[in-house]
Amino acid sequence: APASVGIDPTIVRRKTRAVPVGDVFIGGGHPVAVQSMINEDTLDIEGAVAGIRRLHEIGCEIMRVTVPSMAHAKAMEEIRDRLIKTYQNVPLVADVHHNGMKIALEAAKYVDNVRINPGLYVFEKPKSDRTEYTSAEFNEIGEKIRETLKPLVISLRDQNKSIRIGVNHGSLAERMLFTYGDTPEGMVESALEFIRICESLDFYNIEISLKASRVPVMIAANRLMVKRMDELGMDYPLHLGVTEAGDGEYGRIKSTAGIGTLLAQGIGDTIRVSLTEAPEKEIPVCYSILQALGLRRTMVEYVACPSCGRTLFNLEEVLHKVRSATDHLTGLNIAVMGCIVNGPGEMADADYGYVGKQPGYIALYRGREEIKRVPEVDGVEELINLIKADGRWIDPQ
Ligand code: SF4
Repeated sequence: APASVGIDPTIVRRKTRAVPVGDVFIGGGHPVAVQSMINEDTLDIEGAVAGIRRLHEIGCEIMRVTVPSMAHAKAMEEIRDRLIKTYQNVPLVADVHHNGMKIALEAAKYVDNVRINPGLYVFEKPKSDRTEYTSAEFNEIGEKIRETLKPLVISLRDQNKSIRIGVNHGSLAERMLFTYGDTPEGMVESALEFIRICESLDFYNIEISLKASRVPVMIAANRLMVKRMDELGMDYPLHLGVTEAGDGEYGRIKSTAGIGTLLAQGIGDTIRVSLTEAPEKEIPVCYSILQALGLRRTMVEYVACPSCGRTLFNLEEVLHKVRSATDHLTGLNIAVMGCIVNGPGEMADADYGYVGKQPGYIALYRGREEIKRVPEVDGVEELINLIKADGRWIDPQ
């Protein structure tokens, strides 16, 4: 028997606590949340509101905005107000790029989650000899970070909001760099240092991200983070992403390789695909990764053969036609096969099949049963008629 018999293909997700970001939860068995970041300037209120709305309408569930100054933090109040008045409340995350606590504290009043980067909390005096930091030095610096971070942590805790401890491989603090090197260990220790501070202040609405532009580093860091959290009895959810993935096909492949590998292992509770393209382009990639892994179902699942010498019609053209006619029917599985040589089982148990039968004719299947044979020119229309007859058709909006 094939080796896979008896293996349950369902991905078992790592058990994590549920962390709120507005009305969306990250972890705790909730669907893997899709997020992105607007690229409008936060000071351009109209533009930012429009950008958030545009992204939200196509399925972005959590919106991150950059908050580099006090003026930007204050602008978040108006952005939040406008969203509520003209659209709806959307989960917002403020990205605070330095250890200016006043800015983070102001933003924390209007957003649901504040993202901080531990690499920017540098209290150490530069060491010219690049020696490791001792635990005494770590403790001393840790105390300074705790004092700095405390008001923000307390504010988020008291409002039942959340924090993202977002470590970047490219921006580790010197103490981590000299002690652990430019490594996944350094990234994990950075996150742990901040987790411990939050915990010491009785705050547990924590989400972690460990991002790198090199996929193997990002994968190793997240796996190590999970291992360390398991050892320490921590169950914080993870946000996955490959930074600076670039654009086009390779940007999508890099993101999928990094995010998909971890998700397949059950690791990851929210994802962002970072592309050097309009943020709208990121959302379908996120949903495609989640659907391909069977983690979320938001689109029609198409099964199509690659075509070969036996193919009885122009597969690429027909698949395109079938897709444009049916891609709004979320939840259906539709197969388009050049021939039936290997039997209907090849259609991966699709709900409907469009299969080459003989030159000029195709067969329509419902599950594994052939329903009728029709001239190829009428194929797509007859497929729609069959779906309609089964009561599974809805008109496109
Ligand atoms: Fe070729 Fe038929 Fe297989 Fe398609 S299903 S690749 S046409 S043998």
